[in-house]
Amino acid sequence: MHVFVRDWLSANNILLRSREGHVLIDTGYVSHAPLTLALLASKRGLGGEPLAKLVNTHGHSDHIGGNAAVRKAYGCPIAFPATEAPLVERWDETGLWLAYADQTAERFTVDELLHPGSTHVWGDLEWQLLAAPGHDMGALVFYNPEHRILVSGDALWENGFGLIMPPSLDPDALPATRDTLDVIAGLDVRVVIPGHGEPFRDVAAALDRAYMRTEAFEADEKRIGRHAVKVILVFNLLHRRRMPVADLPAYVDRVGIYRDINAKVLRMPPGALAAMLVDELTRAGVVRVEGGDLVPA
Ligand SMILES: [Zn+2]
Repeated sequence: MHVFVRDWLSANNILLRSREGHVLIDTGYVSHAPLTLALLASKRGLGGEPLAKLVNTHGHSDHIGGNAAVRKAYGCPIAFPATEAPLVERWDETGLWLAYADQTAERFTVDELLHPGSTHVWGDLEWQLLAAPGHDMGALVFYNPEHRILVSGDALWENGFGLIMPPSLDPDALPATRDTLDVIAGLDVRVVIPGHGEPFRDVAAALDRAYMRTEAFEADEKRIGRHAVKVILVFNLLHRRRMPVADLPAYVDRVGIYRDINAKVLRMPPGALAAMLVDELTRAGVVRVEGGDLVPA
């Protein structure tokens, strides 16, 4: 197994090698596809050998963006979480958080459906597929009981998990997040390979932090809303690279995910929402203002 640890725009790529055929999990953001292909072709990657299958943990742009390019390069089938496959089939730009969240991915088709509760042998290891709704209601995590490895996608990171929708937009997301943490807590995990960040071993501490965040979210819906719009904006800045601060009020009023969260949860004038985003993200040191533009720090 080799984990290509990427950044926050591209999810990690996990390569499971075996004589039975190599399997890749997740492909990063579309604009990073050339780097994904280069890593995959490298000595630590396939080194010229074929790829037997491409697997996704869930259907967000930072995990599926390179799917089409990888398939074009290797001609391999794509296995995808069954409950989300219809979104891919009709290329639902809202359901997949693409145009809806000012993100893009190259269109692909699904060849094999991955069902929660099923078991698959990838890279000579047996993986149990578990439903992991919350951040993405159709997401899966992959658990190998023999070596106690969990491929967690965005359901659990060392510090938190992927953004979730506020209850006013999706009443199921927050309770599902807690249930998914309970499922993970019930596994005997030695090492987590998350969708973002280095693999980590202190699973109990990560779960503590994730439960604390869930509790804070349960106590205050506005907190979920603010967290979600901040995370989305930082992600958008990573692929746009810069955005005029003056354009931000119109931007958060035009792009669906900001507009919906603001309309149902935050209820701020677009100018005030933009000002809050700039203020809180610059104070956190995540972005800075440079010549009138917002840029990732
Ligand atoms: Zn992700």
